[in-house]
This record gives sequence, structure tokens and C-alpha cells, in this order.
Amino acid sequence: MIEFAHVFKSYSSEHPVLQDVTFRVGPGEFVFVAGPSGAGKSTLLKLVAGLEPPSKGRIEVNGQRLDQLTPRATPYLRRAVGVILQDTHLLYDRSAIDNVMLPLAVAGHPHATAASRARAALQKVGLSEKERANPLALSGGEQQRLAIARAIVNRPALLIADEPTANLDRETARKVMTVFKDFNQVGVTTLVATHDEDLMAEFAHRVLVIEPGRLRDFPVRRAS
Ligand code: ADP
Ligand code: ADP
Repeated sequence: MIEFAHVFKSYSSEHPVLQDVTFRVGPGEFVFVAGPSGAGKSTLLKLVAGLEPPSKGRIEVNGQRLDQLTPRATPYLRRAVGVILQDTHLLYDRSAIDNVMLPLAVAGHPHATAASRARAALQKVGLSEKERANPLALSGGEQQRLAIARAIVNRPALLIADEPTANLDRETARKVMTVFKDFNQVGVTTLVATHDEDLMAEFAHRVLVIEPGRLRDFPVRRAS
């Protein structure tokens, strides 16, 4: 599903953020991306999402080469990968359901289809009651779940989330993680960047740790 081979990424002429990163994530896997702040977790996720180009190396996602992405392939990638960035980018001038319908409208689905799929997505994240609410009226955890609903409404094969539990209390963070686990259980490959050790210990999964200069791969992180 994801393959990095000797990937380098620098933003300027300075020291590269990612250096010679090689790993592979198979279909249906659930993987955490860990490492200290500034290590390059967001950068790695943006490379997977095709939001940033690598400086060097080969990246393949869902059978598509991203290091030689053509403009024509970009919409296909947008549908194959559901992205939840640190800033949820929710639109506050419209309702929760309208936020979830947006990707479907962009993909050209008729309004009625988009509405029923958006409702199904809201139901999966437990937000059916809030479909008419403005995102500003939702709690942090609800906004995060709304962003997840919007990311999965196109039925992506791959879901990537950058610190989705930051600023959430333990109980709410757990609920949000459970939503990811549920999608993973129906076959969606899931990549979650976090620096929350407790969360990683509780949801035991493979962890890719980015450290300056190298990437370490732990099959399953056990509670210590
Ligand atoms: P993390 O998510 O692990 O905190 P990031 O990937 O956000 O790490 O950042 C890694 C490094 O790359 C940091 O030093 C950051 O300042 C730098 N960086 C991230 N995005 C940009 C950008 N768009 N332009 C320049 N430098 C950036
Ligand atoms: P419907 O056919 O009414 O859309 P589904 O149960 O097939 O109902 O899907 C409901 C919603 O759940 C979808 O709109 C989508 O958001 C999400 N979903 C379902 N299956 C997947 C999947 N395999 N990957 C990601 N999201 C999915």
C-alpha cells in the first residue's frame, strides 16, 4: 500500500528533514508514526498524501508512483487517500453534513447521493445527531470525528492522520482512536502520527519511529 525507498526530503538547501527513509506498509495495516516534535512526522505524512514532493527517492502509494505524479493522477490520489491534518480545515460557514459532503460534491456526485453517503459517514463516527450543527458548536473530539467523516466519505483505501488526538483529554482521545480502529478493521490501511506514548501503548500496533538521521521500525509496541 505504501512503499518508500531511499527517500530524502529537504525544504531548503539546509539539512534534510528526512534522510534515506525506507519502509513498506502493507494493505490493511495500522501503523503509528512516532518521534519527537520536529522529527519529520508531518513531513512523512504529507509525502504519503502527495501534498509534498520528495527531494530524492521513490514513493509508491496504492500502486501509484508519487515521485513522478502527473497532474492527471492527482484527483485519483485525492480519492484513494483520506487525509486528516493537524489543522482540521473544517469550514465554519456551513453545517457538519455540508463539510462531509464537500469531497463528494467535488468528485461530481449528485446531491442526493452525497447527502446519503455523508449521513452514513456521520453515523460511523457517531455524529448523526449533529449533522445540522456548525462545526464551531462541536467539542474538540467531535470536530476531530467530523474531520474523520469527511476523510472517509470517499471510501479511501488509505487513511492518514496527523496528531489526531492532540489537545484531547484521555477519554476523548480513546474514542477518536477507536473510530480509526473501526475503519482499520474493515480493511482501511491506517497511518497515525502521534507522540502520545500512552496511546501507542494502549493501542498496540507497529510503530515507525523517526529519529534524526534514521527510521526505526517496531513490529508491535508493547506497554512498558
Ligand atoms: P513533526 O511533525 O515531527 O513535528 P515536521 O515534519 O512538521 O515534524 O517538521 C520537521 C522539520 O521540517 C522541522 O524542522 C520543521 O521546521 C521543518 N518544516 C516543516 N514544514 C516545513 C516547510 N513547509 N518549510 C520549511 N520547513 C519546514
Ligand atoms: P452507503 O452504501 O450508504 O454509502 P456504506 O456502509 O457502504 O453505506 O458506507 C457508509 C460510509 O462509510 C461511506 O460513505 C464511507 O464514508 C464509509 N465507508 C464505508 N466503507 C468504507 C471503506 N472501505 N473505507 C472507508 N470508508 C468507508
